[in-house]
Amino acid sequence: MVVECGNSESFKINTSIEYRERKVCEVTLSIKWLAHASFQIKTEGRIIYVDLEKYGEASEKADLILVTHSHTDHCDPSKIKKVRKPGTVIIAPEDCVSKIGGNVKTLKPGEETTIANIRVKAVEAYNYKRFRSPGNPYHPKGYGVGYLITAEGKTIYHAGDTDFIPEMRQLRLVDVALLPSGGTYTMDNLEAAEAAIAINPKIVMPMHRWDTDPEEFRKKVEAKSNIKVVMLQEGEEYQVV
Ligand code: ZN
Ligand code: ZN
Repeated sequence: MVVECGNSESFKINTSIEYRERKVCEVTLSIKWLAHASFQIKTEGRIIYVDLEKYGEASEKADLILVTHSHTDHCDPSKIKKVRKPGTVIIAPEDCVSKIGGNVKTLKPGEETTIANIRVKAVEAYNYKRFRSPGNPYHPKGYGVGYLITAEGKTIYHAGDTDFIPEMRQLRLVDVALLPSGGTYTMDNLEAAEAAIAINPKIVMPMHRWDTDPEEFRKKVEAKSNIKVVMLQEGEEYQVV
């Protein structure tokens, strides 16, 4: 797909007439929201999925599949099987490995790997203020991860299921942040907005929204920052240029 890059160049033809040419460029990075926390990322001609689950249409075969944690709304082995091909690299926390089966890598927070020019780094994702029962967080530290995915010189941060944790303040140079905003098990709209402002990406997309109103998120982010808030519909694709 070709779209305008937004920066035009002027040049002269026949020394007398100046034309302005709309400069175009190849879009090589796109993000499609499949459902809930589930995304398809296309880059360098490769297909990446994060948190495939029951909902959301995923038909293209995967080069890379990332799983943040083993909850069923983030890890659906049958959906993974559907898009897996020989050579698909799968990265998932240890307790997901046997659920998925076959060759699955694990990255602990702070660890990273590079797969065909795509750099993947795992980062912390956990609850410190949301509990299933006293002392028992929905997502204890070490249970799941978030991912920083860097390709085409751009970094996408998928936060996984998490509260607004101090480690987010250490993230640098994030181009697109995918942040859970639905509350109960993760940040709610206002916390996700605070996290977005702390991370300061160029673009932020709320996800894992349940039935909350993301306008609350958007208004707070836009009131306090210049971050572009992109609110996709499920199935909608966004071109990152
Ligand atoms: Zn979860
Ligand atoms: Zn979840």
